[in-house]
Amino acid sequence: MVEPEPVPSSDAVMGTYNRFALSLQRGKGCWVWDERSRRHLDAVAGIATCTLGHSNRAMRKALTGQLRKLQHVSNLYRIPEQEALAKWLVNNSCADSVFFCNSGAEANEAAIKLARKHGHLRRGIERPVIITASASFHGRTLAAVSATGQPRYHQGFEPMVEGFEFFRYNDLADFEQLLERLEQNGPRVAAVLIEPLQGEGGVNPSDPSVMQAIREHCDQRNILLIFDEVQVGMGRTGTLWGYEQLGVQPDALTLAKGLGGGHAVGALMVRHNADVFEPGDHASTFGGNPFACQACLTVASEIEKRNLLRNVRERGAQLRAGLNRLVQHFPDFLEGSRGWGLLQGLVLKQDCGITAMDVVKAALEEQLLVVPAGAQVVRMVPALVINAREIQALLTRLERALNRVS
Ligand code: PLP
Repeated sequence: MVEPEPVPSSDAVMGTYNRFALSLQRGKGCWVWDERSRRHLDAVAGIATCTLGHSNRAMRKALTGQLRKLQHVSNLYRIPEQEALAKWLVNNSCADSVFFCNSGAEANEAAIKLARKHGHLRRGIERPVIITASASFHGRTLAAVSATGQPRYHQGFEPMVEGFEFFRYNDLADFEQLLERLEQNGPRVAAVLIEPLQGEGGVNPSDPSVMQAIREHCDQRNILLIFDEVQVGMGRTGTLWGYEQLGVQPDALTLAKGLGGGHAVGALMVRHNADVFEPGDHASTFGGNPFACQACLTVASEIEKRNLLRNVRERGAQLRAGLNRLVQHFPDFLEGSRGWGLLQGLVLKQDCGITAMDVVKAALEEQLLVVPAGAQVVRMVPALVINAREIQALLTRLERALNRVS
């Protein structure tokens, strides 16, 4: 992520983030209030996590009830909320079982271990390789960042975890060349790990035909196709899962962000053919705890009850149409818009002298929260409950911000 400029922060907090000079105190739906009681329209939603918006009534009720009942017990015992959530996820996806953890990076760590075991066990590979894409983002733990196809995230932390090879995103010829090279002397590749739409890398959707061809290559060689759905999963794109946008089913997928509606949770979902984990292979103290699972169950039930997928499709189309109007209005520095559902990016022209961060800062002046995705893309990921009036307010504030920087 492109980071904001440094602002004075508490010395007691380690300086791993540059932060905006804004202290958010409370929220309701798609709105947040700062320390000066100013109201901001929130199109960041905790970076695509607050699925139901802030201080959602169903969430408040479910979580206060859960706190009164039971918060955490560990995976030494059966956890009814975890079992119910796993059942909902399995019933509503191509997966057959689920492992729970606490974040997107952790879900990808689990997927990487699963892939390596699959490589050893099912393909007889001694040193398995996982293919991932350029400009990808898979998280900040050492293996997840090694899988991330952006060298700037590697700098200073070398040596990276070995066993990752990169192809140019959406470039089938490059993928095929890499696969041939790696497998020329026998099996080497355990899995392909890829985002259906690259979020942090610039709101870049996959090409369905490239993904379908990659699926076929994986099938031919018994290589696992793993989708990182940390940002796109759980309804953000207008379908429950990103893979539905592509007409391709993965062997495994990772989730986090929107799954918990603002609460820390992650998941690795697998189909039978990819389920190589046995007791003792992988674990997490907090993973799948009753409190986190109750949050996820609330998100799931509200998505169903309120038909939020339809809202995402309709509001996403409204947002996209509005962004396209802005592109026409500011042809000197806007190139276009791209994305799925309520994950949309406004793309700035290369070398136009204006960066995504300039727009984000100007938007802040207009009391609109948006976030960069790379240097040239302004990303909007509001709560899935956003209404038509709020989308219009978003577009009006964004237009004013663009006027400021133009
Ligand atoms: N994978 C993708 C596609 C992401 O967008 C992110 C976070 O932005 C991650 C993984 C890492 O998730 P977390 O920050 O929860 O570890």
